[in-house]
Amino acid sequence: MSTYSLKEQLLDSYDRGFDFDGLSGERLASRLGELSEIGRTADNGSNRPGFSEGEKQAKDLVAAWMRQAGLSVHQDGAGNVFGRLPGKKDNLPAILSGSHVDSVPNGGHFDGPLGVLSALEVIEAWKQTGYQPEKPFEVVIFSDEEGARFNGGFNGSEGMLGLGNIEEKVQLQDSAGMSFEEVLHDVGLSVDGYENAARNSDEMELFVEVHIEQGKRLENEKLPCGIVTGIAGPCWLEVTFEGKAGHAGNTPMNDRNDALIAASEFIFEVKDLPGQVSDSAVATVGKLEVEPNGVNVIPGKVKLSVDIRDIFKETRDDLIDRVKALGSKVAVKHDVKVESSENMRVNPVPIEEEIQQMLEKSFMDKGIRPYKLPSGAGHDAMIVGEKLPIAMLFVQSKEGVSHHPAEWTDLNDCIQTVHVLKHFVESLQGE
Ligand SMILES: [Zn+2]
Repeated sequence: MSTYSLKEQLLDSYDRGFDFDGLSGERLASRLGELSEIGRTADNGSNRPGFSEGEKQAKDLVAAWMRQAGLSVHQDGAGNVFGRLPGKKDNLPAILSGSHVDSVPNGGHFDGPLGVLSALEVIEAWKQTGYQPEKPFEVVIFSDEEGARFNGGFNGSEGMLGLGNIEEKVQLQDSAGMSFEEVLHDVGLSVDGYENAARNSDEMELFVEVHIEQGKRLENEKLPCGIVTGIAGPCWLEVTFEGKAGHAGNTPMNDRNDALIAASEFIFEVKDLPGQVSDSAVATVGKLEVEPNGVNVIPGKVKLSVDIRDIFKETRDDLIDRVKALGSKVAVKHDVKVESSENMRVNPVPIEEEIQQMLEKSFMDKGIRPYKLPSGAGHDAMIVGEKLPIAMLFVQSKEGVSHHPAEWTDLNDCIQTVHVLKHFVESLQGE
């Protein structure tokens, strides 16, 4: 018998002084703990791929808690689960909050579940204090956010918004050779149902997601949570430098077209470009293929990847142009050819200034310094943001570790974030 208990670990350092306004750290810890048992790995990590039995069990468990809390529960054709609390004016568009409960193959217990359970904790608090919002509020669990199954992700949120290309999705195969249709079928869903999952955006006013930061900024700032200013849209460039392979011994130094020398200068200079366009832009060369890749051969060809991100489309696109121009400049200098192609270009989703200001107010009312930071990684909110206003709160993650069993977020930070979330959702109710 393993003695692992996420709940006990969470409660170990918990300050019960945060239990007020109907919130309970113990309830949140015990729910995070129960979820952590589903698909728990030998390393005490989490293994709940999208559209798996594990993800389904996790959804069913949260759905049971939703019902206990008095919500009416509904699952759409994409497997997304909604727990709805009627508003006093129930015909108004709903406020939605949640995240996902799937994980990467050996992930942690906070990425996803914390966002879902934070939204549910707001409901629990309202139940305790007898508060009913003017507008309907829905706790949402999106299916298959991580994309561990099909190397894609966001299949739930895309389904709810009618985004994504269904023709492409039905071509998908998981590592066991199962098609999208077969995988859906296994958990009681269908392609037809998936296509019908799209909701009318008029039914929804705003989506707010709580998520762990997966970075170290909040930890460095010693803050429990922060305000996300936008979600960066990635662009993946593939840049190929082509020179001439030759014998390393017989080719004089002044008679070479070494593709790796050109690529090296390019890589070294790429790092200075993001700072020229904005404070939030980043660019990374993460992958390199050298041909022929021999000890005694001058590299004839180098293919490399550049991952380029920013939260603003203009500056991100400007950065893409600068990276391409750098490639051309370096190629001329070293007398090699260069070609670049784009494998992906997703639009960034900035978060409206007015929404950020409302969040700032919630932070200040809760005595937390409002700190703003961009999200470098994609989240369900990024997909929802294509059609609806979104807000996002990041919670401190220990050492920025994520997608790993060591992923950790202090319960004090979690519950303070729920206080902010609750305040923010209440501030959206109008006078
Ligand atoms: Zn996540």
